[in-house]
Amino acid sequence: MLSEKIQQVLNKQLNAEFHSAYTYLSLAAYFEDLDLNGFAHWMKIQYQEELLHADKIYTFINNRDARVILERLAAPRAEWASPLEAFKAALANEQALSQKIYEVVDEALQERDHATHAFMQWFVNEQVEEEAIVRDIVSDIERVIESKDGLFLMDRDLAGRTPQVGQESPA
Ligand code: MG
Repeated sequence: MLSEKIQQVLNKQLNAEFHSAYTYLSLAAYFEDLDLNGFAHWMKIQYQEELLHADKIYTFINNRDARVILERLAAPRAEWASPLEAFKAALANEQALSQKIYEVVDEALQERDHATHAFMQWFVNEQVEEEAIVRDIVSDIERVIESKDGLFLMDRDLAGRTPQVGQESPA
């Protein structure tokens, strides 16, 4: 059983993961519009990963005999000034998600809810990886920004991203 407060913060995190998914789908649509299909593909996979994160929280809340409450999703941003700005927004999104995850962990520690604390560690570790990957892509775009060929080659590279299957935690 989850305390009222933990149930509340986990539901809030569930909403944050859905909103993040929505943001990545919007970023995918932005890149589709630029005909940067590899970038769009990368964002689409990121969108799917965020849905998996939301689903993971959904399952945990139910396993703890608590109640999932779905809330309204705010409209995501739709326009960015450039591919670089779009990926910087993705990085800011991941950093904000990490902060939200830390808040859930803080709450779990405060309540000595060890099950929720253990569950959230997967997210803490995942965020380290997510932030590093997006930060690398931001640097790569900064490197090739002056050259159209560079962006074209990056697009081909990002088109090769495959979904992360079978690497999920047992949560
Ligand atoms: Mg996530």
